[in-house]
Amino acid sequence: MIFILTRYIHIDTILPMAKPLLPKQIDPFQLAVKDTTLEGDLPLSEMLRLKDFLCEKDGVVGIHLEFSRNAQGQAFMKGRIKTCFKVICQRCSAPMSLTLDISVNDRLVRSDKEAERLPERYEPLIVDSELMSLSSLVEEEILLSIPIVPKHSIEECGVKSSDLTEFEEQKDELNPFVNLKKLLRE
Ligand SMILES: [Zn+2]
Repeated sequence: MIFILTRYIHIDTILPMAKPLLPKQIDPFQLAVKDTTLEGDLPLSEMLRLKDFLCEKDGVVGIHLEFSRNAQGQAFMKGRIKTCFKVICQRCSAPMSLTLDISVNDRLVRSDKEAERLPERYEPLIVDSELMSLSSLVEEEILLSIPIVPKHSIEECGVKSSDLTEFEEQKDELNPFVNLKKLLRE
């Protein structure tokens, strides 16, 4: 018994402080008023739209998001979203790892109309209800950043470049990682 007790004490002293749990629902404008930083991990399994792309549902998304306002009272969400998951390569149909390190710099707005009026340098985040799911918000950023047609690099792919038609190779060169975000802006 004494042995177990000392072991517990030992574990207590060497374990790092647990990260505070992330809220499920957030009010981004309110977080900006309070200069709040959200940091921690979200499970990929909670991201239902992203799930269709994934080979396996395990894994987490690491977030560090700072909500703040500038001198003009405009609200922002800035920070990073990092994750790594496996998707199917659209050239050879084998799983491939996709590592994402997304830099977030969004201006919070209340409506589509307000988003349209933003100068081009701002990326809008439309907050049209008081509470938003943090997981969905992060998922949205991920969906906008993954390539529409994920493919291994030519060196890593199961389909060798000698098997590709000239047309396919050209397409790859011209269009290496067109993503949805870019298409949406055009
Ligand atoms: Zn491949």
